Amino acid sequence: MKEEVVVFWFRRDLRLHDNKGLNYAHTLGLPVLPVFIFDTNILDDLVDKADRRLSYIHGALGAMQSALEEQGAGILFFHDDPANVFRKLLIDYDVRTVVFNRDYEPDAIKRDEAIALFLMKQNVRVTSFKDQVIFERSEVVKPDGSPYAVYTPYAKKWKQLLQPECYLSAGISQHNFRRQTTKMPALNDIGFLETEERFEAPELDMKRISCYDKTRDYPAVEGTTRLSVALRFGTISIRDCVAAAMEHNAVWLSELIWREFFMQVLYHFPRVVHHSFKPKYDNIKWRNNEKEFALWCEGKTGYPIVDAGMKQLNETGFMHNRVRMITASFLCKHLLIDWRWGEAFFAQKLIDYELSSNNGNWQWAAGSGCDAAPYFRIFNPVLQTKKFDPDLVYIRTWNPAFERNFLPPVVDHELARKRALQAYKAALE
Ligand code: FAD
Repeated sequence: MKEEVVVFWFRRDLRLHDNKGLNYAHTLGLPVLPVFIFDTNILDDLVDKADRRLSYIHGALGAMQSALEEQGAGILFFHDDPANVFRKLLIDYDVRTVVFNRDYEPDAIKRDEAIALFLMKQNVRVTSFKDQVIFERSEVVKPDGSPYAVYTPYAKKWKQLLQPECYLSAGISQHNFRRQTTKMPALNDIGFLETEERFEAPELDMKRISCYDKTRDYPAVEGTTRLSVALRFGTISIRDCVAAAMEHNAVWLSELIWREFFMQVLYHFPRVVHHSFKPKYDNIKWRNNEKEFALWCEGKTGYPIVDAGMKQLNETGFMHNRVRMITASFLCKHLLIDWRWGEAFFAQKLIDYELSSNNGNWQWAAGSGCDAAPYFRIFNPVLQTKKFDPDLVYIRTWNPAFERNFLPPVVDHELARKRALQAYKAALE
């Protein structure tokens, strides 16, 4: 007789605390078999085998595995296509229910639908939960039921709907993990290399959050929370973040709402993955000069703030938000390179890469997005530096050679500005 179990499938919710699906799995009265799949459909597409994200995920899993080992339990790891994994699990166990937290990216939705269909055909119950957001799918929509495409009214409605229960962090009285000894593969075993990235359990720094509105725009200051990677992989609970924001800082709350705004844009308008939200913007005649793109990627444009940002990204997998806006605008407007090129480069490098946020913000910078800055507002990198890095502290940190090795600017600002305005005008008017 095979053992009856409940399978909990970890994905982008790598924590034991306040995990909606996991908490539910423990209430079903059967041993809970926690599973993690290093999904070959995703990993085989990653060109760089020294990937910081994999190191982070591996570290987060290691921390959970140690905590589970203390209870005589362990995660069952696979390196495979999820469809194969569930076929195998059904051979080895009498799986009564499979529980997971919902993911809203188009590929993930397709994957989950296919797995759920397969399981249901085998008479396995499938239950999914909202966990990574406060409001999902069509929970925040206009009175006529259509999705919002502008942030301000979306945020207003989001706040109106928010009740304290929405961000209540749920503990669990009784863990019911299956007692088992499991082995976690090394990064090497799944074809990846170690990087210098180390997982640290994320913490809400209330002091930093309290003064967020005053410090967030200055890249030289540790003025933002650096929680994006934790939110990306669910090593922190969004409910805990919102509770902190409600108590300490309304501006920080508005950033968490931007995250959900872009998630619902992607959910309702999946065409944004390949197309401009505003179709006319797909008529822009991009210059797409490959040499200039390479200079931008390497941080060699001769604009010190742009170059510092790109070096921070290449060296650490992170870039401050203000500088992300400057570098993205520079690529689309100054170099007239298709935002999709920049988006793909960020996607490859960012440790906090999130399809919805990256796409939404790139389209914002290019002007093509749903709630984007008007196209004729072109960031001036020199003025941005004066305003946000006046003592050049950020630039000197990431681009220390800039004063010694003076690089000629890849393009003159005034010329680039006029050229961008012409190209945009020609496409849009
Ligand atoms: P904080 O300023 O402390 O904000 C708290 C959280 O709010 C962040 O961790 C993030 O989850 C969310 N948030 C903040 N700003 C935004 C925003 N503009 N849009 C959506 N969510 C936001 N963020 C990502 O998480 N993944 C990406 O792939 C990504 N790509 C970007 C690309 C460009 C061109 C730009 C301009 C911004 C991008 N952002 C992305 C948004 C933002 O830059 C980062 O979320 C932020 O810099 C992360 O630092 P933090 O955790 O200290 O954020």
